Amino acid sequence: MNKKFSCFQELFSYDYSWIPSTLEKATPPPDPLHDHLSAFMTGKLLLRNEIPLDDESFQQMESSDLLATIPAIEKHPWGYKCRRCGNRKGHLFASLPDGAVYCRNCIMMGRISEKEHLYAYRLDVQWPKHIGACQWNGVLTTAQQHASNQILSAIDKGSLRLLVWAVCGAGKTEMLFPGLNLAFAQGKRVCLATPRADVVQELLPRFRSAFPHVEIQALHGASNDKSGSAQFIIATTHQLLRFGRAFDVMVIDEIDAFPFHKDKSLPYAADRAARKTAALIYLTATPRPKHEREIARKRLPVVFVPRRFHGHPLPVPQFITAFDFRKTLKHRELSPKILHWLRKRVKADRQLLIFVPTIEDAVIVTEILADSIPSITSVHASDPERSQKIQFFRNKSYEALVTTTILERGVTFPSVDVLVFDSGHQVFDQAALIQIAGRAGRSPDDPDGEVIFFHQGKTEAMVKAVETIRKMNKLGRRV
Ligand SMILES: [Zn+2]
Repeated sequence: MNKKFSCFQELFSYDYSWIPSTLEKATPPPDPLHDHLSAFMTGKLLLRNEIPLDDESFQQMESSDLLATIPAIEKHPWGYKCRRCGNRKGHLFASLPDGAVYCRNCIMMGRISEKEHLYAYRLDVQWPKHIGACQWNGVLTTAQQHASNQILSAIDKGSLRLLVWAVCGAGKTEMLFPGLNLAFAQGKRVCLATPRADVVQELLPRFRSAFPHVEIQALHGASNDKSGSAQFIIATTHQLLRFGRAFDVMVIDEIDAFPFHKDKSLPYAADRAARKTAALIYLTATPRPKHEREIARKRLPVVFVPRRFHGHPLPVPQFITAFDFRKTLKHRELSPKILHWLRKRVKADRQLLIFVPTIEDAVIVTEILADSIPSITSVHASDPERSQKIQFFRNKSYEALVTTTILERGVTFPSVDVLVFDSGHQVFDQAALIQIAGRAGRSPDDPDGEVIFFHQGKTEAMVKAVETIRKMNKLGRRV
C-alpha cells in the first residue's frame, strides 16, 4: 500500500484488494471502435447492462481475459458489503421479490444486486499529450501564484495529497490551470469532482475555454452524456462510484461540503477513482475539523490563499436583530427591521441574494417581497427550473433571488447584497455562513457587497463565522 494514502484508507478501513493488480499499460489496437470502447471502459466499474456490447461480443471480451469480474455484493459473516459504494450498513440493504439482496445506498446510480457483477477493464489507454494546452491569458496574483506552484509540483510528483485552503473568491479555478497544463502535456487523465451539479455546469465552460483542445466531459445526475470517456472529467462526487483507479490527477473541490463530508461512500469512491500514483488536490474555503487536525499534525500538506483575487478583503457580516421574524412570517409579513433595511439600502442597484432556512420560508418570503420587488423568484434543491432561474439571475433578469442553502457555495454573481433571514437557524452552521458571506463582493468592479445576518439571537456559528472572516482578512493584508 502506498504510504501517502494510508491515513485516508485507515479512516474507512475498506478492502481495496479487489482492484485488479494486473492493470497493464498497453496500446489498444488501432481500431477506432475499439479505441472508443477502451476509452469508455478504462478505469470504470460497470454492471453488465452498462456495457454497450451484445452478448456475443461481451463473452468474447470476457473469455479474452480483458475483464476483471467482481461480485457486486458480498456476503460476509457480519453482513453484506456493496463493492460499488462500500456500504456495510445492514439497514441500507433490502431484498427484491426473488430474495436477491440489493444496495439502497447507491441506488441513485442504478440498482445493484447480489446476482450481478461489476466489471473492470484490464487494458489502459494512452491519453493524448497536449503541449501548451492552456489557452488562458490571465495573470495570477502573488498569492494565487504561490498556491499554483505547489499544485503544479504535486501534480508533477504524484502520490501525494495537497489541501488548498483558499478564501471564497480567491480564484481557485485559475490556480489549477498551470498544473493541469502540465498534466495534459504529460498525457495524464484528470478528474475534477465537486459535490453539486450547479458547480459542474458553471465550471465546464470555463475549462473548455481554457483548454479548448482537451476533451472534457461533465457528469452529473441530469447530464446527457454519461459515458465518462474523456481525458478530463468534471463530475459530481456521486458519479465517481462508477470509476476505479482511473485518474492521475484528482481535484476535489469543496471537500468540506455536504454531502461529501457526511456520506462515507463518497470519499471512498473518490479515493478509489484515483490511481495509486495520483496527485490528490483538495480545495476548500472552510476546512472541517478532521482536515484541520491533519494539517496541525503535519500529515496533510496545505497551502493557504487568504486573499481574494481582486485584493479586496472579504465583506464582514453585520448582525441585525429581528426577534419578530417568525411571528410576522406567520401573518405573511416581514419583520419591520428587515423592511427598514431594504428601504435604506446603501446601494440599491445591487441584486439581492436572500438565504432562508427552509423551502416553505423561501415561498412565503418571495410572496411577501413580490409586492415591492416585482422581479423576484425562489430556488431550492428539488426545483426543476433551478438551473434556468440561476442563469436568469446571473443575467440580471431577476432583481432578487430567495434561496435555501443550495446556493451557499460554488456560484458567482458579480454584484449582490447578501441577506440571511433567521441566521441562527441550525441549517446555517459556521462553514455555511462563511460560504454565504463569500457570495458578496466577488467582482473587482463591486468588491464591497453588504452581508446582513438578520437573527433572533446570536449563535456560536454566527460569531465564529465572523471571527474567521476577520482572521482571514488580517492574514490577507500580509500577502
Ligand atoms: Zn452500494
